[in-house]
Amino acid sequence: MAYKYVLLFKEGNGSMKELLGGKGANLAEMTRLGMPVPQGFTVTTEACTRYYDDGKKISEDIEKEIYGALAQIEEINGKKFGDAENPLLVSVRSGARASMPGMMDTILNLGLNDEVAAGLIKGNNDPKFERFVYDSYRRFIQMFSDVVMEISKKTFEVIIDELKEKKGIKNDIDLDVNDMKELVKSFKAYYKEKKGVDFPVDPKEQLMDAVKAVFRSWDNPRANVYRRMNDIPYSWGTAVNVQPMVFGNLNENSGTGVAFTRDPATGEKALFGEYLINAQGEDVVAGVRTPNKISQLQNDMPEVYTQFVEIANNLENHYKDMQDMEFTIENGKLYMLQTRNGKRTAAAALKIAVDLVDEGMITQDEAVLRVEPKQLDSLLHPQFDAKALKAAKVIGEGLAASPGAACGKVVFTAEDAKAWAEKGEKLVLVRLETSPEDIEGMVAAEGILTVRGGMTSHAAVVARGMGTCCVSGCGDIVMHSEQKYFELSGKKYNEGDYISLDGSTGKIYGEAVPTVEASISGDFGRFMGWADSKRVLKVRTNADNPRDTAQGVRFGAEGIGLCRTEHMFFEGTRIKAMREMIVARDVESRKKALAKILPYQQNDFEEMYRVLEGRPMTVRFLDPPLHEFLPSKPEEIKEIADELGMTIEALKEVIDSLHEFNPMMGHRGCRLAVSYPEIAEMQTTAIIKAAIAVNKEHPEYNIVPEIMIPLVGEIKELKFVKNFVVATADKIIAQAGVKLDYKVGTMIEIPRAALTADEIAKEAEFFSFGTNDLTQMTFGFSRDDAGAFLGSYYDNKIFESDPFAKLDQTGVGRLVKMAVELGKSTRPDIKLGICGEHGGDPSSIEFCHLIGLDYVSCSPFRVPIARLAAAQAQIKNPREK
Ligand code: ADP
Ligand code: MG
Ligand code: MG
Repeated sequence: MAYKYVLLFKEGNGSMKELLGGKGANLAEMTRLGMPVPQGFTVTTEACTRYYDDGKKISEDIEKEIYGALAQIEEINGKKFGDAENPLLVSVRSGARASMPGMMDTILNLGLNDEVAAGLIKGNNDPKFERFVYDSYRRFIQMFSDVVMEISKKTFEVIIDELKEKKGIKNDIDLDVNDMKELVKSFKAYYKEKKGVDFPVDPKEQLMDAVKAVFRSWDNPRANVYRRMNDIPYSWGTAVNVQPMVFGNLNENSGTGVAFTRDPATGEKALFGEYLINAQGEDVVAGVRTPNKISQLQNDMPEVYTQFVEIANNLENHYKDMQDMEFTIENGKLYMLQTRNGKRTAAAALKIAVDLVDEGMITQDEAVLRVEPKQLDSLLHPQFDAKALKAAKVIGEGLAASPGAACGKVVFTAEDAKAWAEKGEKLVLVRLETSPEDIEGMVAAEGILTVRGGMTSHAAVVARGMGTCCVSGCGDIVMHSEQKYFELSGKKYNEGDYISLDGSTGKIYGEAVPTVEASISGDFGRFMGWADSKRVLKVRTNADNPRDTAQGVRFGAEGIGLCRTEHMFFEGTRIKAMREMIVARDVESRKKALAKILPYQQNDFEEMYRVLEGRPMTVRFLDPPLHEFLPSKPEEIKEIADELGMTIEALKEVIDSLHEFNPMMGHRGCRLAVSYPEIAEMQTTAIIKAAIAVNKEHPEYNIVPEIMIPLVGEIKELKFVKNFVVATADKIIAQAGVKLDYKVGTMIEIPRAALTADEIAKEAEFFSFGTNDLTQMTFGFSRDDAGAFLGSYYDNKIFESDPFAKLDQTGVGRLVKMAVELGKSTRPDIKLGICGEHGGDPSSIEFCHLIGLDYVSCSPFRVPIARLAAAQAQIKNPREK
């Protein structure tokens, strides 16, 4: 019988991720490939959507389908759910389309109650087996209570600890069958005390509650944070996998583990992973016991090892990518429980992509699609200075769980990490172990250090996903997190003390170790070469000084898309001249002050043109309101009044006269140049003279200055300012007796400009979309104030992402697209670019590619990200070169 909302594993396949989620689709695919997978079924993502549409209820038709599928797997497995003679136990596992590690919860051993437990034991009176049954039972109560009823697992651990203390026992392993029975009793009593009702004994009720809980967990705050960070739409929903249990905790001939076909930290081609004998799923990941290396399985269970290696190789060849696999051995028999394309560090991602091409497994285009653009970021950031590192004292060592160099102040909680980071501190989060609630603190930290946990612990997996440095499992640390210190190598480290972590070696340093720039050759260079040969979008950088320009060029920028001239006015003595200009009462004295600024500005442009070596630069005229250059504190006002030779009252009067109720919409942008054309004249002079000077040194550069007039909303504004620019430029060029082309264009950042772009393009030789302002003005809220309400917008699903980080394609994007079309209608060869924050965001870059922009411009560190995103956009949706 065919169901609508439920599919048996043997009915699906690997291409059905949207419907079955990643885990379900891959379980189906492994089944199809004839691999040993406990045969269960998947409740589809569409059922999750229905659950929410139906007001958080599982409707009767879906419930019927679930019971129908359950009957089928009972038959396949020859056991009956809830049966006292030969019971079937299942796991209930979440699985979204994109893997969200640790975000959703799994329940194991579901289907147990007193009767079923007794039934399991019947006919097998080995006390060890009986102990196993009650151990599974108490784990089930714990997981069910945690996931379904939100009674934290940890509170149950307290009950276990109390029992151990009472009995004078150290390890869980030493608890005997009677202890386990007692735990089951006390867990149930605790459940009743907390919930006011008995623990559910009906397995079918347990199952439905669990399925609902998985659907519900799709909407928990952790999942929402993770989705926002990873661009996963809320609308996808999660699937639920119901799978017969296999028991790694059955005996010493059983076990459970996780493994990767290549090293997820370095990319090296070798089976990499760990396992535990006599343990159940969670134990490896939870980091409570320290697992064995996978290679040791060759000695412990040679046949299982050989079989596993073969399966691993087959899976990698099949998926043509590094696999991350979960397996369990029950009484000497191997079962595969999961496979997926493994998360990896950026360095590993590059090495694997390049190696797979060299091994003939994938094409260059496929390789380019394999690396997440945002991941590159971690490769571009500093590494430890080798010399300083050698000199630094190692105070301890853990596992090299996620590479990178981290140096920061010690904090002990995720909340502190978040709060300190907001104050601009760099910090290292030190925890016994991490759990999904720590996610925001982990994002905020430079590095993560844990006392417990292996290479596949929560901390390790999440850190690698984020590209954050992590050292895990440093068991030598004695934690006193309540008192906010830890001890290591006989020394105390308090909250706020500096430590450094080397995520590539696992070493811990009790001091701040200086860092140096990252290397961008080798695999990185080869890989980016493939990306560059693909893309049609050009990538420029935003830079206001020679240092950022050089950084951008080093990272592959093909020019500057936005040079903000106001940043040049803030430094040192320049600000004084700027202030003189602002307080000037007449044109003459304003011109005098501007004349002082001119040489600085010209010199800056010359230096940048030299660094650019002929690459283009778009210079934007002065943009912010003038009051930003004047002081606001009384003591500063006095000091500056003295400096400018005026009275405090006179200066105050100027400041008051510049006061604006809404500076974002005030006297700024081209409005300044309309009021004070002499500013535009000075800036034009600086740009043109700089170009002439550098062209003279290097005729081969053939610089064509690009002058950009900001905040235009009306064609006449642009025309007015442009007239001054052209008059000034042409005069200088004529005086110099040289030939120099230059372009005058505008930023499109006011909706009216987008709406009248055909008019504006008659005067503008290029458009650069200033999507920060355009987003502000289109939504009607300011970027600096949106923080106050974005939180509740996310909570209520009004927004799924920050429109200042990810371009709102529906609204703001429509304006951009309209302006592109209108602009081209009156000036077919108009040059089009984007210079807002969005120019470095991969999904926004794809949009820019699709609507036919010529280039994107972003901050230097995002340039490689943009290059890769542009290449991926072209591979997915080819556009004429
Ligand atoms: P996650 O997505 O967090 O990895 P999983 O659904 O993969 O969660 O479950 C976590 C672990 O639980 C698995 O790695 C596996 O060891 C164990 N597990 C899940 N289902 C079963 C099962 N049917 N039999 C035995 N162990 C299971
Ligand atoms: Mg898993
Ligand atoms: Mg702007």
